[in-house]
Amino acid sequence: MPNETNIIFFGAPGAGKGTQAKKISSKLNIPHIDTGSLIREAIQNTTELGERAKFFVESGKLVPDQLVIDLIREKLIVLKDRNYKGFILDGFPRTIPQANALEHLLLELNIKLTCVINVQAPEEILIKRLSSRRICSNKSCGAIYNLISSLPKEENKCDVCSSKLYQRKDDTKEAALERLNEYRNKTAPLENFYRDLNLLKDVNGTKDPDDVYNEIVKFIS
Ligand SMILES: [Zn+2]
Repeated sequence: MPNETNIIFFGAPGAGKGTQAKKISSKLNIPHIDTGSLIREAIQNTTELGERAKFFVESGKLVPDQLVIDLIREKLIVLKDRNYKGFILDGFPRTIPQANALEHLLLELNIKLTCVINVQAPEEILIKRLSSRRICSNKSCGAIYNLISSLPKEENKCDVCSSKLYQRKDDTKEAALERLNEYRNKTAPLENFYRDLNLLKDVNGTKDPDDVYNEIVKFIS
């Protein structure tokens, strides 16, 4: 199977893996598969799996692992029918059972993983990034600021309409800690799973996004 690049992107919330996954996907011209979009797409196309996923999404439940795996299978089969060049999987697997199920699926489809990119950053940086968003309290404005990358000119005040800025509940330090806890318990064990398979490539996510990108490109070329 020459000229295939099959990559999983992996990393804690706030590490910047989604951004990098999208950039690498457009550089290599291979599809970026994130499970959220995959589920939405299937629901929109009213496929059989989409109809089943819809039930869970509409009742506010998690879409079961097996259904997500079936959606990924469906997607990969379609891709393999065309001029297959690979995929970038982002946001899946998140647990060891999911990783095992994915291993089986890839074996079934005769697809070999190229590598698993692990974008890393220390927890204090992740917390800072995850809790840096501020939003204009004026509902008809709604401008979005970021205390790291797009500061308002005056502290806590909207550049556009001068209203006060506020922090969404999902963006607080407490929410960040909760997400990181969940990651540490359920997803971080995957590091060793893929390290044991000799597939894990650690990337330093604290650097400038362009440098992170260059490091990843070097790994996969
Ligand atoms: Zn405003």
